[in-house]
This record gives sequence, C-alpha cells and structure tokens, in this order.
Amino acid sequence: MEQSSLIKPVLGGAYPTISHGEGVFLYDKEGKNYLDASSGAVTANIGHGVQEIIDAMKKQANQVSFVYRSQFTSEPAEKLAKKIAELTKGELNYSFFVNSGSEATETALKIAIQHWQEKGKPKKHKIISRWMSYHGITMGALSMSGHPIRRERFTAMLESYPSVSPPYCYRCPLQLDPHTCGMACAKELEATIRRIGGDNIAAFIAEPVIGAAGGAIVPPDGYFQKLKKICEEHDILFIADEVMTGFGRTGKMLASEYWDVEPDIVTFGKGMSGGYTPIAAAVMTRKVMEPIMNGSQSIIGGHTLSANPLSCAVSLAVLEYVEKNNLVEKSADRGKNLIRGLKKLGEKYSFIGDIRGRGLLIGMEFVQDKSTKSSLPKGVDVTNEIIKLGMKNGILLYPAAAGLDGVTGAAIIISPPLTISEDECAELLMRLDIT
Ligand code: PLP
Repeated sequence: MEQSSLIKPVLGGAYPTISHGEGVFLYDKEGKNYLDASSGAVTANIGHGVQEIIDAMKKQANQVSFVYRSQFTSEPAEKLAKKIAELTKGELNYSFFVNSGSEATETALKIAIQHWQEKGKPKKHKIISRWMSYHGITMGALSMSGHPIRRERFTAMLESYPSVSPPYCYRCPLQLDPHTCGMACAKELEATIRRIGGDNIAAFIAEPVIGAAGGAIVPPDGYFQKLKKICEEHDILFIADEVMTGFGRTGKMLASEYWDVEPDIVTFGKGMSGGYTPIAAAVMTRKVMEPIMNGSQSIIGGHTLSANPLSCAVSLAVLEYVEKNNLVEKSADRGKNLIRGLKKLGEKYSFIGDIRGRGLLIGMEFVQDKSTKSSLPKGVDVTNEIIKLGMKNGILLYPAAAGLDGVTGAAIIISPPLTISEDECAELLMRLDIT
C-alpha cells in the first residue's frame, strides 16, 4: 500500500527526506547539505541540533512531559512566563501558552474581546487589521489576515475584513510619494475607526515588520507611534503580532522596540522555541488582565497541550540560549552586513527590485524592471522558481507574497539562524548567486 505523510510538495516532485541538522545546515538522506537561509519558516532561530536544548528536553521528559493546564501548573511554565516578562519591556507580565502562532493570535483576539466584555462594554468586539498581513490560518486569525491567497477559499466563513493599507513604501498602495504622503496609511486607521465607531472595536492588530504577506516590510519611523496614539485616543487595544519578529529576529528582542511602542498584547511563536517544540504565547499587560482577574477570573481559550511542561522547558532553554549567546545583538550586526552583501548581489540582476529588512529578517522583491518597479507578468511565478533553484543549489529560502492582490510583486524572505557566522553568510551569498 502506498503511504505518505500527507505533506504535499508545493514545488512539484517529491521532497527530499531530511536526515539531520547541525548549526545552519540541514542534511538529507542522500547526504546533500542545505544552508538553511530561511530558518525553515523563519523559525530555527538558534540553528539545528543544539546540545543544550536537547539536554533540557531530555531532563524535562525524565520528570514529566504533560499535565493538564487546569489541574496543575509546572516549574517550567512559571519560569518561562517569568523569563518572557524579563525579556520584554513595560508591563507584559501575563503569558498564556498555546502551540502555534495561529493559536496565539486567535487567543489574543479572544482575550481582547473578553477584556471589554468584563469591563461592561460587550459591543466592543471588532478587530481592525491591515492588508498585506498574516496572523495565522485558523478562522479567527485568518479573518484578521490581509493575505488574499490564504483567505480566498474561506471568505464566506471569515468574520472580519482587513481595512487599513500597509506601510508598503516601495509600491505605495495609496499611490502616494512616501516623502510627502504624511503617512496617509497610518491615518487610514483613524478614518476606519470613525467609520466603524470606536465603541464597536476591541483591538487593532499589526505585525511590526510585515513577514509572509510582504517579505520583511519595515514601516517608516513614526508610523507605529502614530498608530498607538490613535488606538489610545479611541480606547482600542493594540496587539503586536511578533510571532515572526519576536526574540531577536530583527535585531531587537521585540521588533516593536525599534519604535518604543508598548503593545497591550503581544503574540509570540516560531523563534520562541526555535522549532525544537511547538509552543507559542499571547502575552498581556496588567491593564488587559485586570478586568478579567477582577471578573470571571478565567480566560475562555486554551488547548489540551497549552503550557505542557516539556514545551515550556524547551522554550525556556532556547530563550536562555538567545540571551547567553547575545543573539539579539548578533542578529543586528550580521543583518546589516548581509543586507549590504545582498544589495551588491541585487545590482547584478535587473529583476531584483528591492532589498529591505531589519536584523536577520530580510526581504528580496522581484520585478520585471527595477527602474520602473513594474511587476512580473501574471503567471510568472518567479518566487517558486527561485526557491526551486535554491533547493538545487543547496540553499533554503522562504516565499512571501508581496502584492496586495497576490499577483503584483513577489518576494522571498532570507532569514538564517541568528547564530550564522560571517563565513556562513559569505557561503549564503555564494549559493544564492544562481548564475
Ligand atoms: N503570525 C505571524 C506574523 C506569522 O508570520 C505566522 C506564520 O507565519 C503566524 C502568525 C501563524 O503561525 P503558525 O504558522 O505557527 O500558526
């Protein structure tokens, strides 16, 4: 009988079977090595096969792997919550653990709504979000996501609709000049709130640096300060989705630190465990939690495996590893050098239009002609072609849709583990240079 893991190759042909990983390299069963220039899906932040994490995993498995969250807490869960509170600025002191980034944003949505209900404002239940965003694949998370391709089959079931334009200055969706626009895209949030009515809105959610839906799009300075101010003026919670950007990926512990903006709720995933185990979190301030703690005292959410001690112990070991090895600073430094190298490479090819990013979250956008920024013709799937060529060349890259309609603009994300050395960065550039 034919057997399959039901993971269908998106690139055609069969996937290679992986054998093992070490540092920034993965090895398949045929012995071919791949430089993991995407950290999988921007996840393997500390690289593969780190012995300290394996030891922490074994130690916890020897004690207890699972307890149910409404019967017990555990030392690893409490220590992890404390570590997250230490690593984040402001008052992000209350962690709710789940198993994926989608569950984290879905939980954030529900906690925001519950916050207002327990404050006696049940009408405040709408969530505002932006186009060119990705917050996850579950229905609540997908509702908030401005990602046309991932929405299209389920539109009838989606509750909300992203309504604010992204700060995509390379190809402004409002067709304005970024030098003179006065950040009209941020002002759209204000207009949207007025249209819907602040009394009906629970929260606004945004990725500090746009990831999968755009390819490492960094907003202009002042943009997030403006958004936060608008949220405060209208009594709306601000949720920063740091599932991709959190824990050092962009060269700061949280990407929102670049703009000194303190979110009311933050979501984490991916780099929170570096891929060593499934775990994610929604983390709240006291302001968000107070009405719930003084009210029902219970968050309506959670999953069977939420806060399981094994995943918490692994995540704790990963975050300690990030701290101990100064990976946040390394990400900032390496990122600057790598962007410089990629820009040099970009000069060689007319179809490489833009290179952008922060730290080791870097986007490369493809165009037909870089002088006009004209997008590639419909049907030319350059992203997948480049990813396929990369696989052949032994380099792993992550696809990102950069266009608002899913057709215009195409991009990849380059996001190696934060542990990558300068020599390995040089190797990355060599393997990426496909001619
Ligand atoms: N939020 C952001 C910003 C993401 O990039 C992703 C995944 O790419 C998610 C949420 C969903 O995370 P997961 O795939 O772990 O469910």
